Amino acid sequence: MKAYNENRELVAIICNQCGRVMTVQDDMVKEGVFSAACTWGYFSEKDGEIHSLDLCEECYDEFIKQFKIPVTVTAQTEMV
Ligand SMILES: [Zn+2]
Repeated sequence: MKAYNENRELVAIICNQCGRVMTVQDDMVKEGVFSAACTWGYFSEKDGEIHSLDLCEECYDEFIKQFKIPVTVTAQTEMV
């Protein structure tokens, strides 16, 4: 979960799983964070709702351990 101040600056990211407040400095998070958002569509039970979440790296690792099929990992290529 992301928290903003009255100037719409990012002040905190809180892990939705464990509740830990992640380090944010100068509008940037200073550690690994998994952020996801989903806009649910017409054929779902949540039509029109946007769900978003943030996980710290430790909770992300525990989360993906439960998967039958591992996540797809690719190397980030540098933009020149
Ligand atoms: Zn966590």
